[in-house]
Amino acid sequence: MSRVLFLSPPSFDGFDGGAGSRYQARREVTSYWYPTWLAQPAALVPGAKLMDCPPHEIGIEECLRHAHGYDHVIIHTSTPSLRNDCRVAEAIKARRPDTTIGFVGAHAAVLPTETLKASPAIDWVGRKEFDYTCKEVAEDRPLADIAGLSYRKEGRIIHNRERDLIADMDALPWVVDVYKRDLVIEKYFIGYLLHPYLSLYTGRGCPGQCTFCLWPQTIGGHRYRVRSAGNVADEMAYAKRLFPEVKEFFFDDDTFTANLPRARDVARKLKPLGLVWSCNSRANLNFDTIKLMKDCGLRLLLVGYESGSDEILRRAKKGVTVDQMRAFTKACHDIGVIIHGTFILGLPIETRETIEETIRFAQELDVFSIQVSLAAPYPGTELYEMARQNGWFAREDKTDILHQDGLQHSALEYPGLSKEEIFEAVEVFYRRYFLRPKPILRILKTMLEDKEVCVRRLREGYEFFRTMAQRREIQGGACEPATTR
Ligand code: SF4
Repeated sequence: MSRVLFLSPPSFDGFDGGAGSRYQARREVTSYWYPTWLAQPAALVPGAKLMDCPPHEIGIEECLRHAHGYDHVIIHTSTPSLRNDCRVAEAIKARRPDTTIGFVGAHAAVLPTETLKASPAIDWVGRKEFDYTCKEVAEDRPLADIAGLSYRKEGRIIHNRERDLIADMDALPWVVDVYKRDLVIEKYFIGYLLHPYLSLYTGRGCPGQCTFCLWPQTIGGHRYRVRSAGNVADEMAYAKRLFPEVKEFFFDDDTFTANLPRARDVARKLKPLGLVWSCNSRANLNFDTIKLMKDCGLRLLLVGYESGSDEILRRAKKGVTVDQMRAFTKACHDIGVIIHGTFILGLPIETRETIEETIRFAQELDVFSIQVSLAAPYPGTELYEMARQNGWFAREDKTDILHQDGLQHSALEYPGLSKEEIFEAVEVFYRRYFLRPKPILRILKTMLEDKEVCVRRLREGYEFFRTMAQRREIQGGACEPATTR
């Protein structure tokens, strides 16, 4: 079998754009998700190597030196990083022209022709779920025979037949051995998770119809396909032995609680392991479910509230109302489950009033920590189509969603609300949320309880205020816009 490198290429400093990130950008504080989408096919290919450059601070020279030893290089790309990833692919090809280079990821899945046209260095792209596509490429099968793959032939672009979504999730090998072999887990930080943490998937897809959400609309699909509870518990028991230093395990399934009987089943099986774990959830669980999960080791829920306006939630097809969110949040607070809440500014059709409503709503919920992002209309999402049809794109290049330093800028604007106002509102939101006595005291308490946490919070505080200053510079026009990259 050929030698295969799965690569998250070097990018700008702090780029959390790897194969596990839901929106690809540099965050306010150092933040890296695990490259789970690349680790999974890497686990299917004996002897493969996974190289996740941004968190490991691997620069282009080291990356190229390493890539030289591989017959196949499979690069995870994304809408904002495509141009950069093409340059890396071209440099790899320049040093070793017989390397076969494939691109995978949501952008390649949705726009295979455009992705192939983006650089002559790309030999093929994987569409939909690409795990077994990568495996078959690694087995040196002819590209023409591999389902779910698009490639170049004599100057033409050929799209092979679709590949079915994986039905038997238990058939996929565990990713933790790949993590152990190829990653330095201490390099992975998420502000609200204990450190070191470890994240993986127990299932793919989400029945939610949220118009802005990337993975279910591009790769994972709207059916939640899961591994059996026994399989998950076995991997977690193994992971605990493999990584005794891990303080928290995170189930990164789009919505771990989308299949409640199964979520409860997994939780019960985790209980004897004594693990601390967390997961993504919608804000619609009842008291008993939250309580059961808490009793089985649940520490934190990562919850997408998105907006405090029912009208925006309805348009975004969130499927949860602000009143349901209130009840859910109260239940979590009563039970003692921590919430990291995520909000999006700039969803259709944001106004100054709805921004104000959302800030007040967040203050009222008063969850442990929040993240405020800007609506990112990725190709392949309903939000992208809505924006295209209604003329909401703020720039001619519809894929221009990041500033040159990796920070998000507002890709959308609405009649009566400019992209600048939406951008500015992020900092206003953060200030009005965090610069209140309750959140400050909460943070101080965690710092006093643990010296390591104290050091980490000081670093994050520094990074946060530095990022806010950079955002102000962008707003003031001190930096180049991304379109000139
Ligand atoms: S519920 Fe969450 S994961 Fe599912 S589609 Fe909506 S935002 Fe995406």
